[in-house]
Parts: sequence; structure tokens; C-alpha cells
Amino acid sequence: MIISTYDPDRLHRSYGIDLGEIDMGAVEALGVGANWGRVAPAGRSDAHQHDETETFVIVQGHGDLVVDSGRRPVWSGMVIQFEPFETHHLENTGEDDLLFATFYWRDAPRAARVASKPGRRRFDQRPIFVFSSPTTPNGDLHLGHLSGPYLGADVYTRFQRMNGARVWHIAGSDDFQSYVAGTARSEGRTPAETAAHYSAEILATHKLMDIGVDHYTVSDQDAGYVDGVRDFFARVATSPFVSVADGDALFDGESGQYLYEVDVTGSCPTCGSATGGNMCEECGEPNFATDLVDPQATASTATPKHGRIARYSLALRELGPDVVAHHHMGRVPARVKELTDRLFRRERLDLAISHPSSWGVEPIDSPLDGQVIWVWADMAYRFLHGIEAVGREVGEDWRADSPDPDWKIVHFLGFDNTFYHAIFCPALYKLAYPDWTPDIDYNLNEFYLLDDDKFSTSRRHAVWGKDVLSPSTVDSLRFYLSWTRPEGRRTNFAWSRYEAFRDETLIATWQRWLTDLGERVESGYGGVAPDAGVWTPEHAAFLARLDGRLGELTTSLGQDGFSLNQAARALHGIVEDVVAFGQREQPVTGIGEWKDEARTALALELAAARLLANGATPVMPRFATRLAACLGASPPATWPSTVTLVAPGTRIGLAGQTFFAVDTPALQEWLVERVAEALQLPVDEVSLGSRLVGLGMTSLQAIAVQYQVLEKTGVDVTIEELLGERTIAQLAALLDAAGSATVEVPPA
Ligand SMILES: [Zn+2]
Repeated sequence: MIISTYDPDRLHRSYGIDLGEIDMGAVEALGVGANWGRVAPAGRSDAHQHDETETFVIVQGHGDLVVDSGRRPVWSGMVIQFEPFETHHLENTGEDDLLFATFYWRDAPRAARVASKPGRRRFDQRPIFVFSSPTTPNGDLHLGHLSGPYLGADVYTRFQRMNGARVWHIAGSDDFQSYVAGTARSEGRTPAETAAHYSAEILATHKLMDIGVDHYTVSDQDAGYVDGVRDFFARVATSPFVSVADGDALFDGESGQYLYEVDVTGSCPTCGSATGGNMCEECGEPNFATDLVDPQATASTATPKHGRIARYSLALRELGPDVVAHHHMGRVPARVKELTDRLFRRERLDLAISHPSSWGVEPIDSPLDGQVIWVWADMAYRFLHGIEAVGREVGEDWRADSPDPDWKIVHFLGFDNTFYHAIFCPALYKLAYPDWTPDIDYNLNEFYLLDDDKFSTSRRHAVWGKDVLSPSTVDSLRFYLSWTRPEGRRTNFAWSRYEAFRDETLIATWQRWLTDLGERVESGYGGVAPDAGVWTPEHAAFLARLDGRLGELTTSLGQDGFSLNQAARALHGIVEDVVAFGQREQPVTGIGEWKDEARTALALELAAARLLANGATPVMPRFATRLAACLGASPPATWPSTVTLVAPGTRIGLAGQTFFAVDTPALQEWLVERVAEALQLPVDEVSLGSRLVGLGMTSLQAIAVQYQVLEKTGVDVTIEELLGERTIAQLAALLDAAGSATVEVPPA
């Protein structure tokens, strides 16, 4: 027999509380790890998570147990078991010590099962608010923006919704940015006009990209927004860490105008890169404008001069421990933690949180004339404002001025915004709502380069969404951006590489397989899905392989491991697997002895197509909807838990469907080149207005062109069509139309 008695004199500090070994000789004797724990009155343990299954037995006192932000009272006599990885901590709400014994052990199958469960971290129980980074309305969206926070937030929301989560994507325009005032000056409009113009353009581009937005916050137009910002700032301003203080500032050498953000450039005092005022996009560290090396005003050539000015100032350094505690809660990438560590090593970190400007929101009862609330403090409020707005739409009493710990907030942002989202905002929340423990996940992307240089709105070095997005291109662009977007490293976009990828992967592989599958169902089974018959070992193995792909996709799209790079590869993996499988099975097609095996193989290919339709729904909703329709199904609304066969007898409409095709201008150019090649003419002698027959094309030459068209676009154009009345431009349009049958995209 082993007996351990609680001994208050044999405790040590760990996880924020007092722990004492349950002294039973060794862990081996008891079979599990064990400890006594004591939480002093008003004390709390540090929130943490681990792979062990853990059991608490509360032997004295009472308190609150918080598990994945869900809170419940506990008292002596209760036994509680935690699943692996649940974030938990204990708070003593009583007058006496809260005493408990804890026992923990590793259970590998249980940990693995929990790790792959989609509803983990109470995502199946809590409202989830997904925020794409608020857009500065000083230009429209380019592919760099779209590939980052916007595509990320959209796919994330679609996947969560398919898993039954209550989830909303909240986007919007950050109207009061100084960059809006900068663009307004150069475009000869007021900042409000500029913001309204680009804000509407941005929303329209979201639509073109099939990005579902449940609420779109426009700071300068949303009812209650400005008052909400003022109230939020008033709460922050009462904190002892905020004061109106004189500080060093930078002014134009000629006009004396106050310089910050858009008004000034220079070299980053930390890393030496070229930077704008207040934030270095390279190292992610804020600057104070005054510490820029060789500062230059944007609006004048005079050397800026230093001076003093009174502003609201935040002693951010003092909130370091709170920010770090916050980073123990949710999904916080190591890159965020490292930046935070780097910043809080500074001796002081005093930030001006109001600035002289005529564009923005003035604080209530401010002693400072002509100053506005720094727009990044405005942003901390906007997330809460967005939640309240969604609440109004869905009949929930969610209030921006009383945030709820049960809310799960998920941010999608570029690394250059890390400081604002993941350090500055949580610090302000601590000041405004000391009792609120915000539970936030951060999903970062790095810079997407265009032809090896940063995408830039201000320099107009960009591929604009509106120039390239259409019903016939949106799926292939969403897929390519998912495949290449900068997750964890910078990546590069080049239009020619996109086209090559689309042609090789989506047209020559995906489209060709789907077309071929449709034709085989037509010719072999009268256009309906056959029932699976006899299963060979390879058939069973292929089913298991598809199941593995589903697991991969579920992990890649889920909240813990969200990665579009991985999801795109898992989707393509399905197609690669099924193409190889089909080739291996092909030899028995049409042999009577093996017809029951052959129909199983075909049924499995259809199952793969169905898995592709379901699995691609978050990434390519338009393609997925059309593919599902061809398999006799409505738009996939539920994430599959397993791979299933298409019901036997279902009419399959794959034959003749074009899902991916080359877009018209590129097609025209390509077709002109092929025609010139077939006729051995110089390209400039073949015009878009000419007919092939008019150019003297023979049937034999037309067959060569026909074959190339099929290879390139998957469209089976006839010789009669090629040599008919259509001009080259009209032929290109015909091919494009075959690939762009319009489809209603289900809302995210
Ligand atoms: Zn820097």
C-alpha cells in the first residue's frame, strides 16, 4: 500500500501555483505522474496544455476551472478529467486554499485522436469571428493582398462552416489610415471620398474572388463606429499606463508639418531597411519616426527637424507580461512570440497613440487640439464593433463594450501587421477590459513578391484582382494562390508561371481526368454511376489512400494546422492518385471475365471525384459546386468524415464539361500562334478576324490544331467548327465559354 499525505511545507512554485510531489517513491510505483496542488485565495494557475490525459481530484475549497475559455465552478469532492491538449487553468474564488491532487499519464492513441478532431478547442461550441486584416482604402486589391489574409479567411470560414461551427468572416476598410489622406492629396479628393471610393472597389473585388464576407465594416460610414472608438479610447486613456506627455517628434523642415507614417521615410533604426514612418515591414518593429536614419519628408525636400509635442502616450513596455500571457492562449506562431520577445527587451517602449491630423477620430474631452486617435487603436475597437454588428444580424446580444471570453477571434494578417494585431491590440484590451481574457488565433502570411519585387499599392507594382478575375479564372487563381501563397517564407508570383501551372496541373491533369472519366461512364455504363462489384486488394488499398488524403485535407484546413499550401497539395494529391490508379486498372476494361472488378475501379474513381468536390469546396467553391452537380449532388455543405461511393444509378454529367480553361485574351494569342504554325505562316499574317478556311487551312492541318486545342483546353472542338464561319477571335471565345459556364457560388 502507498499513502501520500498533503504537506504544505513541501511545496514548490510551478505553473503559477504551489505544487508538491505525491511521494510514492517513484512515478513507476503509482503508474502515473501525480502531484498535490495548492491555489492560494485569489490566485490562479498558468493556462497550459499538454499531450497527457490529466485528472484533478479537488479535496478542499472552491474555484473556477477554465478549459478552452469555457468557465465553470468546481468544489471539493469533484473529479475532473482533461482531454489531451485542452488549455486549462484553475482560479481560486474562495477564502481558503484550493487543494487538489492531479494524476496524469500518456495515452498516445487518445492524443492522436484528439489532435485530428475538427471541433477541437471548443470550435464546435463557441462563436468564431474570423477577421481578414482591415484593408487600407488607398487602392484596390491586388493578388498579393488577395492571396494573403482574404483568401485565407474565406477558406477558413468555409471549412469551419462545413464542420457545423458558428463562424463569420468579418472584413472591411480601415478608412482613417494616414495613407488614405496621403492618396487623397495626390488624387485631389477628400480623404472621405477616397476611402468611400476604394472601400467600394475592395468589396467588389472580394466578390469577384468569391470571397464571402458576412460583415463589411467601413469605419467612416458604419453607424456608431466613431462613437464606439471614442468610448474605447476613453477607457484606455484612464489607465495609469496612458498619459498626455511631451515627447520628441519630427516636423517638416519648411512647413513645420508634423510627420508620421505616410509623411516620412527613412532607414529602420533596428534593421536598416528602407521604411516608412512608425512601422518597418522588414523586421516588423515599430519606430517613432524620430529615430529613423536619414528621414525624408514625403511632401518636401527640406530636411526634417526634431521638436517636442504633447500627445497621448502609452507605456507599452509595462504591459509586456500581459501580452506574453495572452500568447499562451491560442494559436500564436513562433514568429509572433519572437517579435514580442525582441520588442519587450527594450528598456522603454513608449508609443504616441494620438497624432496631429485632420483625418481620424478625435478623443472625447481631449486637451489636445487637432489630434486624432492613432488608427491602430481604432483597429482594436473595430474587431469588437464587427462582432456586435454580426450579433445584431443573427439576434445575439454581443456587445463591443462588454467582450465575452467565450468569443473565439481568429486573425488573418501579413507579418508586417504583427505588431499591431498581436501585441498592440491585446495590450489595449488589457487596459480597456482588464477582466476580459481575449482568446485569439493569429494566422500570418509573409510577403508575396511579384516578379521578385514586393507587390505595392502605392507604387502600383501589382496584378490587380479586377484585371484577372472572372468566372472562368477565379478557381484556377484561387488554387494557384493557395499553392504558392507565402506561408512561413516569401514566395514569388509570375504570370507566366501561373499560366504554366494552370495548363499542366489543372487543364492537362485535372480537366483531362474528369473529361476522360465522364466519357468512360458514358461509353461503358450508359452515363450512370455503376455499383461497385468485386473488390481487389488494390481497390481496398486505394480506398484507404483516399481516406488518408481526406485526413490530410482535414488537418490542413482545420484551425490548428491551417495551411493552404498543404491543402492545395492534398487536393492535387487526390487527382494524382486517381490518375495513377485509373492507369493501373485500365488493362481489364472491357474484358468480360473482369467486368465486376472493372466497375469497382470506376466506382472508386467516381468516389475520388466526389471527395474532390467535397474537399475543394472551401478552396474552389465554384469548381466544387459544378463538379458536385455533375455527380448528381447539391453544393457540398457538410465536411465528409469518410470517403463514400457515388450512389449507383446516379446520372453522371461529367462528359463535355469544362472546369478549367485558358482565358480569352491568352487563348486568342495562343490560337493565332498555333494556326500560324500549322500553316507555316509568320504570326503577323494571321489576324484575329481571319477564318481558318480563308487562310487556306486543310482538314489535315485542322486535325493538328484540334489536337492541340484538346491538349491545352480540354475542349473537344470539331473540325467542322474549326473550318466553319467563325473567326479566330470567335473560336477563342467559343473555347473560353465552354470553360466558364456560370454557376451560383454558395455563400461562405
Ligand atoms: Zn526594420
